[in-house]
Amino acid sequence: MKLKTILAAATAAIALSAAAYADGLVGIAMPTKSSARWIADGDNMVKELEAAGYTADLQYAEDDIPNQLAQIENMITKGVDVLVIAAIDGTTLSNALENAAAAGVKVIAYDRLIRDSGDLDYYATFDNFKVGVQQATSIVEGLKARFGDGPYNVELFGGSPDDNNAYFFYNGAMSVLQPLIDDGTVVVQSGQMGMDKVGTLRWDGAVAQARMDNILSANYTDKEVHGVLSPYDGLSIGILSSLKGVGYGSGDLKMPIVSGQDAEVPSVKSILAGEQYSTVFKDTRELAKVTVGMVNAVLGGSEPEINDTTTYDNGVKVIPSYLLEPVAVDASNWEEVLIGSGYYSMDQIK
Ligand code: BGC
Repeated sequence: MKLKTILAAATAAIALSAAAYADGLVGIAMPTKSSARWIADGDNMVKELEAAGYTADLQYAEDDIPNQLAQIENMITKGVDVLVIAAIDGTTLSNALENAAAAGVKVIAYDRLIRDSGDLDYYATFDNFKVGVQQATSIVEGLKARFGDGPYNVELFGGSPDDNNAYFFYNGAMSVLQPLIDDGTVVVQSGQMGMDKVGTLRWDGAVAQARMDNILSANYTDKEVHGVLSPYDGLSIGILSSLKGVGYGSGDLKMPIVSGQDAEVPSVKSILAGEQYSTVFKDTRELAKVTVGMVNAVLGGSEPEINDTTTYDNGVKVIPSYLLEPVAVDASNWEEVLIGSGYYSMDQIK
């Protein structure tokens, strides 16, 4: 045999053994392409899975619950070995997961917990309570820096009430803000507090913008708002539009301190422009790695690495979880965190 042929045969043998070791079809159900973070999640998952030798079936459901259900059922029919699901509505998947379990398919909840099901195996996510703590902590720092001593008028926004994460973000944020509300340092002029009042269905920026418009016209014609707790960059952009629409950020009206989450490019640009104050970076490359580690373990018959066995009770059982660390980002550290880690290139931001 010629050397080239020998090499080719050897490579093929190695490829075959890799495929034999990591054989499997993995279904990935993602919520929507309308937010860049989920696109990055999907891309990173496919990249990591393929590098490990698996075949990936990636589907986006454009925030339509029946659509996501149909995609998951389809994946089960196609014979996936593992399902990785970032749920749109974390409370509507019990039947689908029952079917998965009946077909011997392992299920990993990705970023968002799936509730009310005993058929969920593992959960890979970030420390969601800490995300809220970081959002509120950065708001408090920003309020002091921009407006001096309080009291400060702050309005509150929550995420989608059908997303378990939304409660963790809100509760984390309130663990910082509630004591300041109690001692009068922070005042919520609208009186709108609690997830039942501040939630934003489907994380919709237009809904947040409309609610901010209403809050401003009902409560702030003779007062100034100093801060807005926003749990997600897509909402922050809507909230900032509303604020700019009535003159904040120009003349005497300073821009309120607005938080965010996901470090999406428009929000990083907004931070650089002095509009949005901060965001929280969650490295989707790391989340994909942790999740693929879980896939490997589940298919290889071993226990995946878990670092939390107490926090995420889904209503039926506590789901063994791996929590990654979120990172607070503002004008002072965006370059180090986002460019330094290679998550974005400078061209994408400037
Ligand atoms: C995710 C956040 C994201 C939000 C809206 C949440 O479940 O954890 O990172 O901002 O959904 O997409």
